[in-house]
Amino acid sequence: MTTPIVQFHHDPKHGGHFTTVLFWECQCEEDFLHPVYHRECPPCGITRNQAPDAGMGVVVRMGTQVDERLTEAAFEQAGLDSLWIPFAEGVSQVEGA
Ligand SMILES: [Zn+2]
Repeated sequence: MTTPIVQFHHDPKHGGHFTTVLFWECQCEEDFLHPVYHRECPPCGITRNQAPDAGMGVVVRMGTQVDERLTEAAFEQAGLDSLWIPFAEGVSQVEGA
């Protein structure tokens, strides 16, 4: 098997966190979440190879705005159904407005 889509990073201080290889984070203040197929962020000049994998907390908040399919795939792997449900409701409220 290849690298897992979602990886858990143990952190004794904070209890650990999830990241996903399906997204990465650049150094912009806004819109810093990129799907894996973006090679570079033109505004800040960071490339995929320089950037860290995205935290799942960021994907929860911004993922569907970037790539809905990748977000769903990452959530499936992480087993984050409980986070997905309130988030999906928020999205449908926005779309229905
Ligand atoms: Zn950027």
